[in-house]
Parts: sequence; structure tokens; C-alpha cells
Amino acid sequence: MAATILIVEDEPAIQELLAMNARQWGYRAIQATDAASAMEHINRALPDLILLDWMLPGSSGVELARGLRADRRTRDTPIILLTARSEERDKVVGLESGADDYITKPFSPRELNARIRALLRRRAPLASDEVVRVDGLELSPGTHRVVANGETVDLGPTEFRLLHFFMTHADRVYSRSQLLDQVWGDHVFVEERTVDVHIRRLRQALEPSGCDRMIQTVRGSGYRFSSS
Ligand code: CA
Repeated sequence: MAATILIVEDEPAIQELLAMNARQWGYRAIQATDAASAMEHINRALPDLILLDWMLPGSSGVELARGLRADRRTRDTPIILLTARSEERDKVVGLESGADDYITKPFSPRELNARIRALLRRRAPLASDEVVRVDGLELSPGTHRVVANGETVDLGPTEFRLLHFFMTHADRVYSRSQLLDQVWGDHVFVEERTVDVHIRRLRQALEPSGCDRMIQTVRGSGYRFSSS
């Protein structure tokens, strides 16, 4: 599934250039021109990555990054700060605000894409095409294929994303609302019990291989994917 990138930039020419590049690279681009409209997008659905201009009208990009890092829901969302400032101390302020990376304007589109890809691989594995293996399970995002102990498993798109998330975040407990944000990208318009429905389907699909046992219900908290 294509990663969604939220582009927060107030200069229309740069905004358009970034959006056009992002789409060319295969991402979904969402555009905002200030911190307030960026927050509206983020509150509706979490993007996979944010390209954030430092100098914005009103609240600055650095302030927005600090706010996102302070909020449990958004603290892990990857952020690349865009800036015309190239001094070392600016870079330090930028990274201390919680941005994961920092790129100085004018930048080469090729370099920006390389940084986006590296950050997505590191921070948003669901948007990466790399094959994931945990114990007897192997999941290939590119071909949408899952093999459990040597047997191919047929999964619907939601169960596939759910398993992909679990396999890249093993041994941690996630609440239903966290799973909605991470797997559905949306905690507002989907009911929490939807998560249970898809967990049930995923377990059923994995049952013949015995891998269903890896998906554990944690009472009162949510679910955990447990590697052996
Ligand atoms: Ca600007």
C-alpha cells in the first residue's frame, strides 16, 4: 500500500513541486499550508510521514513537530523538516524538536526521496516492500503473499495489513484504538469492535498452521503478536 505523505508548506510553488514529486515516487500526497490545517488532516487520519516546512505562517514547523512528539498518538509519526536555514545550530534545534531528519532548501528531489525511503523503512515498515519473517511466518508486501510453516495463507487486505503491522511490531501490546490508527490509519470513523472482527478472521486463516497462537488477547488492553 502506498505511503501517505502530508506536505506542510506555505509557498505554493514548493508545495506543488513536492506534491508532484511525491506522487511520481508512488506516494499519496496530502497538502496543507499551515500548522492548523495540517492538524486537521492528522486528526482525521495519521499520515505515514510528514514533510514539514520550518517557516510557516502562524505556528512554526518546529512548534508543530514538538506538539506532535508530545502527543501519544502522533509521537512515532516520521517527520522530515524542510528549511532554508543551514546553520549547524538550526539543525540542532530542528532535530531537538523531534524531527527525524532535516533537509535544507534548495534540495535535490533525488536526495529527498532517498531520505523519505530510508525513514519509511525505519519508522513506517507497513509502507515498505521488504519481506518480513517471524518464526514460521513469512510475509511479502510486494506480492501480497503470506506463507505459514510452508503453506500459503489467503488473507483479505485488512488482515494482511494487520498481520504486517503485528510482524513488524512483535511482543508489544496495542490497544484497539492504536491498531485502528496504525492499520486502518483512522481512529475516528471506524468502530473499535471492527478490530476484533478482523483479528478473528486473521486467527482463522492462520489456524491450520498453528500460527494463530502468536496473536494473543491481552485482557483489558488489546492484542499482542508474540514471537517465540
Ligand atoms: Ca515557508
